[in-house]
Amino acid sequence: MNYKNLQQQDKEVYDIIKKEETRQKNELEMIASENYVTQAVMEAMGSILTNKYSEGYPGSRYYGGNQIIDEIEILAIERAKKLFHAEHVNVQPLSGSPANASVYMAFLKPGDKVLGLKLDHGGHLSHGHSVNFSGILYNFVQYEVDSKTGRINMEEVRKIAQKEKPKMIVAGYSAYSREIEWQKFQNIADEIGSYTFADIAHTAGLIAGEQMDNPVPIFDVVSTTTHKTLRGPRGAIIMCKEKHAKKIDKAVFPGMQGGPHDHITAAKAVAFGEALKPEFKEYAKKIIINSKTLAEEFINRGYRIISDGTDNHLIVVDMTSKNTSGKETEKILERIGISVSRSTIPNDPNPPMNPSGVRFGTPAITTRGLGEKEVKQVAGWIDAAITNKEDIGVLNSIKKEVEEMCKKFPVPGLL
Ligand SMILES: *Cc1c(COP(=O)(O)O)cnc(C)c1O
Repeated sequence: MNYKNLQQQDKEVYDIIKKEETRQKNELEMIASENYVTQAVMEAMGSILTNKYSEGYPGSRYYGGNQIIDEIEILAIERAKKLFHAEHVNVQPLSGSPANASVYMAFLKPGDKVLGLKLDHGGHLSHGHSVNFSGILYNFVQYEVDSKTGRINMEEVRKIAQKEKPKMIVAGYSAYSREIEWQKFQNIADEIGSYTFADIAHTAGLIAGEQMDNPVPIFDVVSTTTHKTLRGPRGAIIMCKEKHAKKIDKAVFPGMQGGPHDHITAAKAVAFGEALKPEFKEYAKKIIINSKTLAEEFINRGYRIISDGTDNHLIVVDMTSKNTSGKETEKILERIGISVSRSTIPNDPNPPMNPSGVRFGTPAITTRGLGEKEVKQVAGWIDAAITNKEDIGVLNSIKKEVEEMCKKFPVPGLL
């Protein structure tokens, strides 16, 4: 990336960005929520559209001079509609959590009852955790994954829903590796007259790439971040049925937010354009092949994987099956240049700051071009590092191999 002016004007910031660039180049990114955007997405993000204020929506703004901004917002909306087969799209949400806040605001009053998956079972903070606005403002009741299968048992969800009669049911998760039965959720909601809300922040790219089932034609409302598997700028969108369009738009602005970030809207449009290309389907397919390969490699080496495998881009591994913890694994892998995030496992006996599991994801390494052969090598290195965690010599030599692989598979946006 070219930072000529920044380098001249502000060396302090420039140096920090360059250091992070080097880290991203030389390390393997296996955090399931991260990815590498293209140069084109970054150029749109870095554009002069950041100079504009445009509160409101295309055709009805509270500021003048928005004729051209309207064009970019309409383009982003049209591309998102096509990508997800959506009736209505709002492309203004600043990120995943504020998007979810807008969804709740559109459909609920404070104190209303909502059904969501428990955080330590794979849910997200914004699905009703007590420290998050969602759990503070709304009365969340929670469902869990089955303790034997690690999967969501739809009969259990039905029982809880029938008993609690929530006004809204939330599905779509942060650390769940299996396909979600959207239609069954909708059927349960129809039985008790509640709204359905899908949060596809993690899997949106796999859904756009037609490798996983799409809740958009089924559910009342769907939110997603744009920066995870979808490989766009940091941000979010909300999709809904036409009948809910006014409610959603009002909740985003003026309900939750002020002016939209028009440079990010432009970058969202670029990312949606990329995701509409046939190559993106191939990318989504490869993410899942890599993830399944990684799961198999771990299982063959005696690791316990939650739900014994994966249908998507991530796996959650119970590290106590290898006499270590999530936090310690994160540290060991940092030593060899691989980034992962520690994670709770369902019914985790250990506290959230030092949970039993680690979440591994393949979207970023797949963007880099790693395939099955390389994923097998990476799994071998991870296992060797954990087995030899006290042996500095072994860790250093693995780190060199990781760096060699990184050189062979450069980050596309950092060429
Ligand atoms: C990542 C994520 C979010 C939050 O997105 P931010 O952009 O970090 O606010 C919301 N829901 C789910 C399911 C997520 O995985």
